[in-house]
Amino acid sequence: MIESEGTLLLLGTSEIKNNELYIGGVSVSDLKEKFGTPLYIIDQADLEDRMETFVTQFKSDQFETHISYASKAFTNLYMAGLCKKHGLHIDVVSGGELFVALEAGMDPAHIYFHGNNKTADEIEYALSAGVGTFVIDNIQELRWLNQLTKEMEKQTQALLRINPGIEASTHKYIQTTTNDSKFGISTDDEKIHDMIQSLIDAPQIDFRGFHCHVGSQVTDEKYFFQEAEAIVSFTSTISKRYDIDIKEINLGGGFGVQHTPESPSIDFESFLTRYIDVIEATLQKYKIKPEVISIEPGRSMINNSGYTLYSVGHVKHTLEGLPLIFVDGGMSDNPRPSLYEAEYHAYLANKMENQVSENYRVAGKLCESGDVLIQSIELPAAESGDLLIIPASGAYTYSMSSNYNLMPRPGVVFVKEGQVVEAVKRQSYQDLIVNQRHYSN
Ligand SMILES: *Cc1c(COP(=O)(O)O)cnc(C)c1O
Repeated sequence: MIESEGTLLLLGTSEIKNNELYIGGVSVSDLKEKFGTPLYIIDQADLEDRMETFVTQFKSDQFETHISYASKAFTNLYMAGLCKKHGLHIDVVSGGELFVALEAGMDPAHIYFHGNNKTADEIEYALSAGVGTFVIDNIQELRWLNQLTKEMEKQTQALLRINPGIEASTHKYIQTTTNDSKFGISTDDEKIHDMIQSLIDAPQIDFRGFHCHVGSQVTDEKYFFQEAEAIVSFTSTISKRYDIDIKEINLGGGFGVQHTPESPSIDFESFLTRYIDVIEATLQKYKIKPEVISIEPGRSMINNSGYTLYSVGHVKHTLEGLPLIFVDGGMSDNPRPSLYEAEYHAYLANKMENQVSENYRVAGKLCESGDVLIQSIELPAAESGDLLIIPASGAYTYSMSSNYNLMPRPGVVFVKEGQVVEAVKRQSYQDLIVNQRHYSN
């Protein structure tokens, strides 16, 4: 839930006690003492609530529904374990993500394997692990899969990733279904028929239907409804032309989230039921009866339960421009502002009720001028030793983090009802050279 108190964005279980921010009943300064900064903090109760919201609201009596968490947004053993506990499926796009899902105990049948350039090794790994569904991107991949299923004597299910040409309004780097997209195949491309025929003919591949993902961080729900109409209409044409039953339609993810108090957002409780209504009506209109409808929330599942905590180092006044608050992380733990101008909110977690006094820029410590996390934000007077926290930063931060400037990757803690689980330990300096060898020996 989002309460707007002035410029404040208080999410999930976060609350203010003695001028300080608490998340999951745990004081943020205690977390800094125990785990250091930068630190990713996940509000576990809030996350589990959202998982339940997806599972209970995206439901129909006309078809089965799968909520497949797009693990690229944020994954580790603990997170994948929570997905399993709440009955979610999981999307992976690489051998590494697949490994984590399997290590966490996910049922391989509940895994969707995505990606536009799955390597032969990855396909082999996924087949031997018994991954449930391959989402096919291109003809070469389909040939490899066909050949490997025969060689390995394995069966698998497959969906074909299509682009019905919906252009959702979002940043161009996260648009995916345009006709020149690197993902999937356009429904206007005649070659799609060779692919469908090959899928139907492949003896060890069970061709179940189509997948489409409209883009990311889309907050106008009409695009999801348009996409549903486009994919169902296409499905109906194909179903007639090839005389086949389409068993599954996967509508992808991309549901937008609120990063700042000013940005638009989707209310998931009501959106998901409206979405189901639109899907049911569209299926009726085109007389299609799939067994399964799936969606793939990534960002929308994790983002607003995640916080990034930093310590303030120096505060610098430059000749021009807003004063700079320097934090002890930056684009190495959150590359999104420098990558696609993502906007974030922040507060000083140890000065929650102090009067705001000034507009600041928040910059990191990495050696790039673009390493600015927030271009302008009103905060109380900041000084060295303050705790700066960025709420709504759970998605595509930890998962996109790097060791640039040989910054050790921050740890991840899950907090719930006063308890803390250190799900991922902060990297040590030793970890940075674990795969390296000395020149002299
Ligand atoms: C990235 C991705 C998602 C999740 O997108 P979000 O914007 O994080 O919801 C879902 N499906 C596919 C195929 C993706 O590539």
